[in-house]
Amino acid sequence: MRKGGPLVDSFGRVARKLRISVTDRCNFRCLFCMPKNPVWLDRKEVLSLEEITRLTKIFVGMGVDKVRLTGGEPLVRKGVVDLVRMLREISGLRSLAMTTNGYYLAELAGPLKSAGLESVTVSLHSLKPDRYEEVIGVQGVFERVLRGIREALDVGIKVKLNVVVIKGCNDDEILDFVSLAREAGMTVRFIEYMPFDGERLWRPELVVSGREIVHKVSERFRLEQEPRESGSTSKNFRFADGSPGGIGVITSVTEPFCSDCDRVRLTADGRVVPCLFSKSSYDLKPLLRSGASDDEIEAFIKEAFMKKFAGVETLLRAEAVPKHVRAMYTVGG
Ligand code: SAM
Ligand code: SF4
Repeated sequence: MRKGGPLVDSFGRVARKLRISVTDRCNFRCLFCMPKNPVWLDRKEVLSLEEITRLTKIFVGMGVDKVRLTGGEPLVRKGVVDLVRMLREISGLRSLAMTTNGYYLAELAGPLKSAGLESVTVSLHSLKPDRYEEVIGVQGVFERVLRGIREALDVGIKVKLNVVVIKGCNDDEILDFVSLAREAGMTVRFIEYMPFDGERLWRPELVVSGREIVHKVSERFRLEQEPRESGSTSKNFRFADGSPGGIGVITSVTEPFCSDCDRVRLTADGRVVPCLFSKSSYDLKPLLRSGASDDEIEAFIKEAFMKKFAGVETLLRAEAVPKHVRAMYTVGG
């Protein structure tokens, strides 16, 4: 760890996990994420691979040991495989993962594995091709995404699935996903629909709570809850009958677990975002591009993180909490 010690906020929460958005661009238009006409960042604003690597080293020096690459869609970023290789060389980084829509995994899974990527979370919101393509706003890609998932498994990358559950849209598929989890020995994580969508379609009535999801699954399969890891936003369950696979629920709306949150985010254009639920972000780029030393950058990050928002109890009741702080694709989910 660098001389200045860990990255800590005014409530004593310590950052251990960094989510890096490597691009705001995406080849999909998921209805709960992208606006119809996204305005992309100017390419000059986007951090280079070297800049991302330098900042990651500084974060790791402050005790961050898990990094997840996200976006936009991380696999549309040119050089993303090189980036994985560059990050893998950072000593002190224990885990490197990625969240992806899976479209480019069919060709990139092998190179990503060779570069050192250990695990991917693939977002797959329906097992019905027509519905899936309606949700993601692109036609004719379902089979390709499934091929990508198979390829990732074949080359030895650990795969989890993310499903954003929306009432009246895909909540009738929860048990189908659970069956898939059991058959494939995978973890499927059901995510509550968060009010961070580009088109502002979110309404409280569209949220299916983690509690409802667990209840529904428990009617069919006996579940045993895993001990919760500190800082985890996911409640995880295994199957009591010993079946492989498991499920998780990410209750960011109904039970956000802010009190021991250990995340910090870096946007594609170099802003430190201490909390998803707060509008505050802190632009590192001027410092980064004006010859600042690592110590100066570290001091800036520490000051920004110290201002981290206390958090929310539930986004359903807390009327004072701004509902559409930002769209997910701009910060990385
Ligand atoms: N493009 C990649 C993907 O879709 O996996 C990575 C970026 S995406 C913004 C990260 C995660 O956020 C995905 O699992 C996505 O489904 C989820 N997400 C996007 N908008 C959301 C929303 N409004 N509520 C809950 N999850 C959302
Ligand atoms: Fe793209 Fe991911 Fe957002 Fe879907 S959720 S539009 S795949 S960034």
